[in-house]
Amino acid sequence: MKIVVVGGGIIGCATAYELARTGCAVTLLERATPGAEASGAAAGMLVPLGETARSSFETLAIASWRLFPQVAKDLRERTGIDVEHVTRGTIYPLFTAEEIRRAEARAARHPGEEFGIAAWDAREVRDREPALATNVRGALFVRGDHWVNNQRLVAAYARAAVAAGVLLRSGLSVSRVVVEAGRARGVVADGERVDGDVVLLAAGAWTGQLVGSFGGRLPVEPKRGQMFALTHVPPVLHHVVHAEDVYLVPRPSGELLVGATVERVGFEGAVTAGAIAGLLRAALELVPALGDLAITRTWYGFRPWVPDGFPVLGPWPGVDGLWVATAHFRNGILLAPITARLMTAWITGGKPNMDVRDFLPDRFATAH
Ligand SMILES: Cc1cc2nc3c(=O)[nH]c(=O)nc-3n(C[C@H](O)[C@H](O)[C@H](O)COP(=O)(O)OP(=O)(O)OC[C@H]3O[C@@H](n4cnc5c(N)ncnc54)[C@H](O)[C@@H]3O)c2cc1C
Repeated sequence: MKIVVVGGGIIGCATAYELARTGCAVTLLERATPGAEASGAAAGMLVPLGETARSSFETLAIASWRLFPQVAKDLRERTGIDVEHVTRGTIYPLFTAEEIRRAEARAARHPGEEFGIAAWDAREVRDREPALATNVRGALFVRGDHWVNNQRLVAAYARAAVAAGVLLRSGLSVSRVVVEAGRARGVVADGERVDGDVVLLAAGAWTGQLVGSFGGRLPVEPKRGQMFALTHVPPVLHHVVHAEDVYLVPRPSGELLVGATVERVGFEGAVTAGAIAGLLRAALELVPALGDLAITRTWYGFRPWVPDGFPVLGPWPGVDGLWVATAHFRNGILLAPITARLMTAWITGGKPNMDVRDFLPDRFATAH
């Protein structure tokens, strides 16, 4: 089966890799370089549990989270790239008695060993993460909330994909999907026609534009996220610290990532003074010692989002051979391994290997 994948973010690279492993002839088209957009801009946190009861989204997220140890090992063996999968757990600081009460209730709801949820008192917080501000009165600790270096993860998936036989063509921008007699036949990229039996659109926040090229409609929008990084040698923090208005991600490679805004400003590509000031203020209130660290870089990315907040996964209705995998919003790094496997099983085997009802593109698709 000849497959054209559009978009070399984490979703396109991971899916191209899995498709090639099953013997498909895959061409991956990326207009810039792999990871150039949201996938390179992310913080890399792997947070599978929601606040509320189990949903189809949470089932997908947990399934993907469970794949990470194996994915990290497999990618390291195939590419030599260490994706920095850190499993020390995440601290959610608490400031009021009410927050502590809710955290204790939440910890009691998830008694299992797998995610290791615990409510910490102030003394335990001080012992485990001494740099946190003294007004932190307790914490919810989730040992299962891990993190990876997402830039390395995309690079590793891209390299593994090429090693598995994927033809990666960077610097090629797709302008439209070729649909003939109700079937996708390929795409047009910088004036060149690239043929395929199957076309998979994984172009992140730009996927709606490609769907529009054949008259379809998919309301994918960008949600801008701004972040910055500090030098973190020697480290001040040992866990991810995730508060209401800021999160801090210590990377083994010596950076502390600080994020992130969630803004609806279209494709306005800018790091703004106000956003960085807000994140800085929140970060310094939480960990005063960060004030001495050097700022190394600032950046933004466009998270692909649709109005119900769920991913869009599956065949495009009414066009044979056309598939979509996008709108992973705040969780595309976490969801990449399961998305890649699900899409591969579905495209090559004809049916999905899990419950996908909530993710089907049909919920948005209109006439094409
Ligand atoms: C600040 C920030 C923090 C985040 N933190 C986390 C986190 O901690 N954990 C987590 O799980 N997720 C996180 N995310 C979300 C995650 O980054 C996204 O959900 C994920 O990267 C989406 O991947 P993607 O491959 O769909 O999109 P993208 O990475 O945007 O990739 C799409 C690719 O398609 C290419 N493309 C677009 N149009 C065309 C075209 N016409 N022709 C050819 N190529 C095209 C683009 O160049 C791009 O490389 C974060 C995002 C941001 C911005």
